[in-house]
Amino acid sequence: MDTDRDRLAARRAAMRAAGHWRDETLLDHLARAVAGRPDHTAIVARRSEGGAARRITYGGLDRLSTLVAMSLRERGVGRGDVVSFQLPNWWEFSVLHLACLKLGAVSNPLMVIFRERELGFMLALAEAKVLVVPARFRGFDYPAMVANVRDRLPALRHVVVVGGEGAEGFDALLAPAGDSAGFVPVPPGPDDVIQLLYTSGTTGEPKGVTHSSNTMLSNLAPFAERLGLGAGDVIHMPSPLAHQLGFMYGIVLPVMLGGTAVLQDIFAAPEMARQIRDEGATFTMGATPFLNDLTEHVAQSGEATPSLRVFVSAGAPIPRALVAKARPTLGAAIVSAWGMSENGAVTTTRLDDAEEKATTTDGCPLPGIELRVVDAEGRNVPPGEQGSLQVRGCSNFLGYLKRPELDPSDPDGWFDTGDLARMDAEGYIRIAGRSKDIIIRGGENIPVVEVEGLLFRHPAIAEVAVVGFPDARLGERACAYVRLREGAALTLEEMVAYLQEQRMARQYMPERLEIVTELPRTPSGKIQKFRLREMARTSPA
Ligand code: ADP
Repeated sequence: MDTDRDRLAARRAAMRAAGHWRDETLLDHLARAVAGRPDHTAIVARRSEGGAARRITYGGLDRLSTLVAMSLRERGVGRGDVVSFQLPNWWEFSVLHLACLKLGAVSNPLMVIFRERELGFMLALAEAKVLVVPARFRGFDYPAMVANVRDRLPALRHVVVVGGEGAEGFDALLAPAGDSAGFVPVPPGPDDVIQLLYTSGTTGEPKGVTHSSNTMLSNLAPFAERLGLGAGDVIHMPSPLAHQLGFMYGIVLPVMLGGTAVLQDIFAAPEMARQIRDEGATFTMGATPFLNDLTEHVAQSGEATPSLRVFVSAGAPIPRALVAKARPTLGAAIVSAWGMSENGAVTTTRLDDAEEKATTTDGCPLPGIELRVVDAEGRNVPPGEQGSLQVRGCSNFLGYLKRPELDPSDPDGWFDTGDLARMDAEGYIRIAGRSKDIIIRGGENIPVVEVEGLLFRHPAIAEVAVVGFPDARLGERACAYVRLREGAALTLEEMVAYLQEQRMARQYMPERLEIVTELPRTPSGKIQKFRLREMARTSPA
């Protein structure tokens, strides 16, 4: 997989010299865990829709990933090939990632909410060789969806079905033809692409973020150090493993620590509380709704989670009042963090921060990564003033797959995040808004430009703009403002039915429709979304 070699070489020299890139892969950490504590539990995963909890030791994880690696190799997967997996938080997810590492292949996690539209685009751009899907999850038939897009995917050689039968079933990957004693892994180089993760497009199509072992591990080492995480920790992960948050902190971090991962596949706060209690989880991480729901559940039921030491909240704006309530209710440190698929958790609050910092900021940068807040001319703004948030450093990604022109990084390596922030005199930031056009609904980013593009083709719609409006639990929901063609009519149900026909992920669809005779515009003709947001906020549906 191509990366910009010159840019990487310069960056590599600086990162190596500073000690941020240590040239290890997760397989080095796995080997240490296997050598040190082969019987220690690496993964606990319960399937909500039937099936007992599966517990896998480090020795087991190593064996399973070798078997899967062998089977993938027998199916033609080698160095640099993309293996896509559209799976819930099941143990197979972690095993597949480690198997890919053993082949030098690229893991491409895909969200279970994606439908033909997203899936077809993403698999085609990645030229995925193998795709792994569930037979069914939440009543949805994944193999049937894949059948609808497969003829558009000439590179796709195999579809493997977890819960499927025969040669296409995941069990077949656990039974390779060869003898595992003879397996020789071909691990990736520390700067090779190991992960391809799509992020919501702000430009009309999803962007494929690429990471190496160095970019990923250089975030996790200082993260673990700052939060005091080690081999004794039990990490509960309710966030999707196919998000960067779930992937890095639910798959990679536990193996790096030699600790235990507890994976939850369908989020419900009572089940989360139960798993934390049963497994003695010490650490968890998720977007604001997870924190909100767990706090409400514990407050109302009195079912405490005494083992929990740290809850990291990230991925969406974090209300101060929630942090203030969650701390005493959960009896855990509530750490606010800010980050992106492109660079992991860049800022976090510290465990020993004063109350004011802990509840009113999104933290300060981890070692190895710098932040700046700039004005429209690219000049640093004074502390406390709002500007564009830019990042550079060790965990920043390698680039967007086949779309280098979409990377806004300047020649000095500053990456413009599309977020607006204020930074205080001590370097702590608070996210204040976004310049990029996305809506964050419950931690899930809605690609506004794509939704608008589809709606624009509807025969009844002359003009459309999609904006977010506040929601107490999910943070934001999407509202479509529509100007109709002469004599046309449109209801919310019709609009949703139309988007369903386009096979778009349901979570992307606007939940509110407002018909207007005119959309507010600037003198130059640009739609004034801030006005629409104001309208949506002040005239609730
Ligand atoms: P992830 O996979 O972690 O959700 P994404 O790349 O999908 O990452 O989303 C990143 C975006 O989420 C950020 O650019 C920002 O807009 C938003 N975000 C993340 N953390 C925070 C935070 N603490 N406060 C406000 N917004 C946040």
